[in-house]
Amino acid sequence: MPEKYKKVNQIYEGKAKKLYTLKGYQSLLLQEFKDDATAFNAQKRGEILNKGIINCELTTFIFTYLAKQGIRNHFVKQISPNEMIIKRLKIVPIEVVVRNIAAGSLLKKTNFKEGTLLSKPIVEFYYKDDLLGDPMINDSHALAMKIANENDLKVLKQMALKINLILKPFFLKRGMKLVDFKLEFGKDITGKILLGDEITPDTCRLWDKKTGKKLDKDRFRFDLGGVNEAYAEVRKRITGK
Ligand code: UDP
Repeated sequence: MPEKYKKVNQIYEGKAKKLYTLKGYQSLLLQEFKDDATAFNAQKRGEILNKGIINCELTTFIFTYLAKQGIRNHFVKQISPNEMIIKRLKIVPIEVVVRNIAAGSLLKKTNFKEGTLLSKPIVEFYYKDDLLGDPMINDSHALAMKIANENDLKVLKQMALKINLILKPFFLKRGMKLVDFKLEFGKDITGKILLGDEITPDTCRLWDKKTGKKLDKDRFRFDLGGVNEAYAEVRKRITGK
């Protein structure tokens, strides 16, 4: 790590990442990506080969691309294979899921069969709370809990749909269908909402355009085999490495 950024305290350890404060930079953090993989609210645990490096590279590539397309986000710079500098945000405790094709938990809430192309994208909110198991919530729940205001919710939906419009062709050009994905947002010191977290095969469902092969964390969740290979394949298709 360059001398410029010196880790001070670890302030958070999640399932896939750690966050550290930095000496001399109040408004920045260091985000470290781990190889650990978890699923089903951490009941299933494992490791995916080089996942920390792959997810750091992919998030760097995708957040840089999104910034060029006008999506404000927390990415500042990558400083090592699995570490990046990010802007410090006050996280909005809502996971925003966007769906283009029916899969995953949508199959339990609707009669859609897996693989059904949705006539328009579905946007869902989940309350980020491990003890509650991240339940799905609607706008009124979010307002009642005061975790976001009306304008925040409008911005979250608008940004999520715009990101979807940018990322669908981005992945398609690289031979993958963007089935669904999860986003997290936070506010900077001025109160502006920025995209945070990561965009990786941990947080997106990606299916090969031609064969429909799953190239994402579902291979780990459901023991489909070829997990390491799938992550390596997505890395190659996006970064060329
Ligand atoms: N997702 C995520 N973190 C979560 C829950 C979901 O990144 O805690 C992603 C998941 O990878 C998928 C999308 O959000 O791309 C929709 O997930 P779904 O609601 O179908 O839930 P899951 O099947 O992952 O339990």
